[in-house]
Amino acid sequence: VAEPFDLFVIGGGSGGVACARRAALHGARVAVAEASRVGGTCVIRGCVPKKLMHYAARFAEQIDAAAGYGWRVSGAEHDWDELIAARNKEIDRLNGVYLKMLERSGVTLFPSRARIEGADGDGFMIEVDGRAHHARRVLVAVGARPQLVGIPGIEHAITSDQVLEGRLPRPRSVAVVGAGYIGLEVASILVGLGIDTTMLFRADLPLRHFDLDLRIALTDAIAKRGVRLRPGVVVRAIVARPGGVTLDTSEGPLEVDRVVYATGRKPRPNTAHLGLDSLGVELDETGAVQVDPAYESSLGDLFAIGDCSDHAGQGLDSGSHDLTPVAIAEGRALAERLFNSNPVEVAYDTIPTAVFSLPEAAMVGLSEERARKAGFDVAIYRTRFRPMLHTLTGHDVQTMMKLVVDKASDRVLGCHMVGDDAAEIIQGLAVALTAGATKAQFDATVALHPSAAEEFVTMSQPVG
Ligand SMILES: Cc1cc2nc3c(=O)[nH]c(=O)nc-3n(C[C@H](O)[C@H](O)[C@H](O)COP(=O)(O)OP(=O)(O)OC[C@H]3O[C@@H](n4cnc5c(N)ncnc54)[C@H](O)[C@@H]3O)c2cc1C
Repeated sequence: VAEPFDLFVIGGGSGGVACARRAALHGARVAVAEASRVGGTCVIRGCVPKKLMHYAARFAEQIDAAAGYGWRVSGAEHDWDELIAARNKEIDRLNGVYLKMLERSGVTLFPSRARIEGADGDGFMIEVDGRAHHARRVLVAVGARPQLVGIPGIEHAITSDQVLEGRLPRPRSVAVVGAGYIGLEVASILVGLGIDTTMLFRADLPLRHFDLDLRIALTDAIAKRGVRLRPGVVVRAIVARPGGVTLDTSEGPLEVDRVVYATGRKPRPNTAHLGLDSLGVELDETGAVQVDPAYESSLGDLFAIGDCSDHAGQGLDSGSHDLTPVAIAEGRALAERLFNSNPVEVAYDTIPTAVFSLPEAAMVGLSEERARKAGFDVAIYRTRFRPMLHTLTGHDVQTMMKLVVDKASDRVLGCHMVGDDAAEIIQGLAVALTAGATKAQFDATVALHPSAAEEFVTMSQPVG
C-alpha cells in the first residue's frame, strides 16, 4: 500500500497550485487532481485570455487617438482569427509552464476528475479514474462556474468560457446579459474589436457592489465607447434562428448573432460532485464550502480555498473575493500554517480589484455607500478631468478619481478610479491602504508630474 499523501488538492487552478507548491516546498507529499487544464479559470478561461483580448481591443482607441498627434494611420483592420490563434498559443505556453512548475516541485499530478469516497480516523480516500488514493488531508479548490438562468432557450446562450477559451468564430453582433465585471469586460472587448454590442441588465447601473460614482462614471464612459446599454431589461426567452438568436426581452425582440450570459458565477455544481454531502461538510446556499479562518471546513482536515469557498467566512458577498490573488494568498497561507507552523493572515480589507473594461475601473477599500453603512462619518474627495492624452485628440473622455476618508481617524478607507491605467494606479494605492495611510499622508506625498495618478495626492477640498 502506497504511503498516504500529506495533502490531496482537488483542483489545479490558482489556489490549488499555489497551495500544492508551497506545501511541497516545506517537504509535504502532495497530489493535485485537475479535471480540465492545470492553471484553472484564471489562466485558461479568465484573467489571462481576458487581458490579452483587452489589449487587442484597446488599440482601437489608441489608433484613433494617434491622428491627434500627427500620425496618419489608414487602413487599420483587425483579424479576429489571428488574435484568437495568438491568444490560444500563449495560453498553451502558460499551461505548460504551470505543468513544469508542479513537476519541479515534486507534486504528483492526476490529470483527471477527483471525488472524495470517504473518511476515517486516518484520513480520506480519494477516487481518481477508478483508483483510490489515501491522504491525511484534503484541500477542495475546485473553483466556480458561470450560472445560467432558467429561461426557455438558455441552451442557445454562451458564457465567457466560450468567448475566452477555444475558437469562437467572429460574431457580427452580440448581446451581453448581466452587468457584473465579466459582462462589462466582455462587452468592452467586443465593441473595441468592432463588433456591434448591446448589454442588457435588470438594474439601473452595472457593478452592484461598487462605489456609486464609479458606476456612474463607467456607465457613461462605456456608452461613449459604443456599447449599447439597456438597463432595467429582463430577457424572457431565447429563440434560435439561422445564423443567430432572437431575444424575447421586456422591451421587445432583439436579434443578434450570439448571446453571452454573464449573470454570475457559483461554486455549484463543482462542489456538488465531490461527495461532500455524504461527509456532512457544510456548504452555503451558493454551494460554497464554509470554512473557518484557518480554511478548515466543518469536517476536520478537509479544507477549502478560492472561489469554491466562503473565503474564511468573509461575509456573504464572497463574489468580491473571487479573485486569483485571493485564491493564491489563501492557498499559501494554508500551506504555511499546515507545513511550516507559520500563521499567515490574508489582508481581506484591502483587496484591490479592477474591471478591465474600456476604460478601466479599479478600486480598493470601501465604497462611500459601504463606509457610511459601516457607521463611518466620511469626507469625500472627487475629481473628474479630461486626461492629458485627449487634450490633442479632442475625444470626449473623462477620468474620475475618488477618495473616501474617515473624518475621525483621517484614514483613507477607499480609493476609486475610472480611467486609463486605473488597475496599475490602484495597485500602488492598495499598499498605502494596507499600511493604514491617512489623508494627511496622501497630502504629504509629492506628486509625480505629469501623470493622472498625481491627482490622488492633490485633491485638497472635500466635495462631501
Ligand atoms: C472571465 C473571467 C475573468 C476573470 N478575471 C479576473 C481578473 O482579471 N483578476 C482576478 O484576480 N480574477 C479574475 N477572475 C477570477 C479568477 O479566475 C478566479 O478567482 C480564480 O481562478 C480562482 O481560483 P481557484 O483556484 O479558486 O479556482 P479555479 O482557478 O477555477 O480552479 C479550479 C480548478 O478545479 C478544477 N476542478 C473542478 N472540479 C474538479 C474535480 N472534481 N476534480 C479535479 N479538478 C476539478 C477545475 O477544472 C479548475 O481548473 C476571472 C474569472 C473569469 C471567469
